[in-house]
Amino acid sequence: MRPVIAAELVNGAFGDPVLYLDFRDAKRALLFDVGDVGALPPRKILRVTDLFVSHAHMDHFAGFDRMLRVCLGRGPRLRLYGPPGFLERLEHKLAAYTWNLVHRYPADFTLQALEVDPGWSARAARFRSGAGFAREPLPEAHCAGGVLLDEPAFRVRAAFLDHGIPCLGFAFEEKAHVNVWKNRLAEMGLAVGPWLRELKCAVAEDRPDDTPIRVRWHDRDGAHERRVALGELRLRALQIVPGQKLAFVTDVRGTAENAERIARLAADADLLFIEAVFLAADAAHAERKHHLTAAQAGCIARAARARNVVPFHFSPRYLGREDELRAELERARTDKPTHREMPVKDSMPQVGAPDPELKNSSIIDEVEYDAEAVTPGLETETPACYFNGEAFALGECVRSGSEVLQCAERGVWVRKGERRPG
Ligand SMILES: [Zn+2]
Ligand SMILES: [Zn+2]
Repeated sequence: MRPVIAAELVNGAFGDPVLYLDFRDAKRALLFDVGDVGALPPRKILRVTDLFVSHAHMDHFAGFDRMLRVCLGRGPRLRLYGPPGFLERLEHKLAAYTWNLVHRYPADFTLQALEVDPGWSARAARFRSGAGFAREPLPEAHCAGGVLLDEPAFRVRAAFLDHGIPCLGFAFEEKAHVNVWKNRLAEMGLAVGPWLRELKCAVAEDRPDDTPIRVRWHDRDGAHERRVALGELRLRALQIVPGQKLAFVTDVRGTAENAERIARLAADADLLFIEAVFLAADAAHAERKHHLTAAQAGCIARAARARNVVPFHFSPRYLGREDELRAELERARTDKPTHREMPVKDSMPQVGAPDPELKNSSIIDEVEYDAEAVTPGLETETPACYFNGEAFALGECVRSGSEVLQCAERGVWVRKGERRPG
């Protein structure tokens, strides 16, 4: 089965960081960092709906101008997310051009930007071409647990990291992955078509089995339309597998706290993109530049239990020597820890015992948890779980004493029992 999303590091391991995440079944893409985007053709730029910016160093943000150039007068809207100071940076970029004619363009291209702070409060603003890109404030938002974007099919979560300045790391989490058996559809007398998108949305939203799905397709006999119950399609033609997780982390200092935060953000990722800027032999230089060495990146990837790791943001000083960086990362990722390596703790934070004075979500045993049931008295529809006032996103795990708690749907902690040391 081909994956629903395809991830492309646009400028390879040495060029400016740009990660293009393409949704294969929809004309849509997400972009993580926007360094030089000259290699992206306009049709791919126009597919980007959301742009996540780790920080505003030039190699991560300079490509915004080209995006704007391509989208102006064509794209309907682009949402952007960035660290503290991001709205001002964006406003200044826009103020660098003359906009006396843009209000005449037929498409009112809109930039909708969100700037988060470490407490996950978010300042928001809108910049429309129709208004000459003047800043229009939007209501403040709160991104509980660092979740910047939450859609039926996936969420994007951020973590605050230290790069001498605040820098965001990102995780893309698909909620469920729906595979369609084409041959079984054929056995049901149905054919594939754009209706599959509607079907996948219905599955992602967990609609009831009796939900009717309009199955439409064209063939040489003309147009066909049938109504089939979601439950029947689910049972006969679909395979539902857990979603993919992908993390993108760049421009961070090699500190224990960063390592812990990244390991938590990228825990059990299927694919981790992580910077590996210098060799461990140049660790002092890496520290001065606030970047990771390949060995540090490898240790973090191991702590996160990432299944596949793609290192990038290699320093140009290693041109022709990238094998050394990759080999160093792999050694650190697969070897047992040694005393010389950076201290990387378990990726789950120890939160201690619940304090009755602070906000805590309900904790229930795994056997009692039923995602379908509505349990009276529980917080419902919260996109986060609280432990002593701190919000954790859905899917995140914490340790409370020797117990492991996982934040489940509806904002309930589910007690998972003992877990092997990380
Ligand atoms: Zn950089
Ligand atoms: Zn930087």
